[in-house]
Amino acid sequence: MIYADLHVHTTYSNDSSILPKTLVETLVKHNFVKVAAVTDHDTVKACNISRQLASAYPDIMIIPGAEISTPVGDVIVLGAEEMPSQPWTVENVLDFTRENNLLSVVAHPYREYGMGDTAKNYEFDAIEILNGGSSPSANEEARELAKLLELPGTAGSDAHQQSDLCMVYSQIQAEMDVDEILQAIKRGLVKASPSSRSIRF
Ligand SMILES: [Zn+2]
Repeated sequence: MIYADLHVHTTYSNDSSILPKTLVETLVKHNFVKVAAVTDHDTVKACNISRQLASAYPDIMIIPGAEISTPVGDVIVLGAEEMPSQPWTVENVLDFTRENNLLSVVAHPYREYGMGDTAKNYEFDAIEILNGGSSPSANEEARELAKLLELPGTAGSDAHQQSDLCMVYSQIQAEMDVDEILQAIKRGLVKASPSSRSIRF
């Protein structure tokens, strides 16, 4: 079983103070959340350095990705090592995701920059049903959307500062391998969980 925070911003997002080094150190210290997806706003620039830093520790792993600002709302692409070509419409992002065997996730659908019910018009792989920065009611609405669309639900902290990291996490039935994790999520072998405070900074 993998415990992963699937939505993290580093200093490569203009609104986050989490250095890649800090993210890696947090995973090293955490009791059981040992995997995180780096999902900066419209860039994958932090992924390489984060993976490089993580490679020094055999028990932690970084999933590359990005949170892409489409005209209708944010989409997280997990597994992405590069950005799709512009314009970043939902159609282009989904084509890119399918061509490269990545995973598309509707980020916080019922919050600011979320796409809400518009998500019903597209074929995403998963819905973020537990976002650390969303209200309980917005998360509940997201959970209902996932149920309605019969899509897997993921959890991510949406951390922009260190204390937010791993506040919520996804439990995934997979081994420590990016492709295996993405496939497991696609097949619904994922559960969204709130975190009990399990790390001291
Ligand atoms: Zn975010």
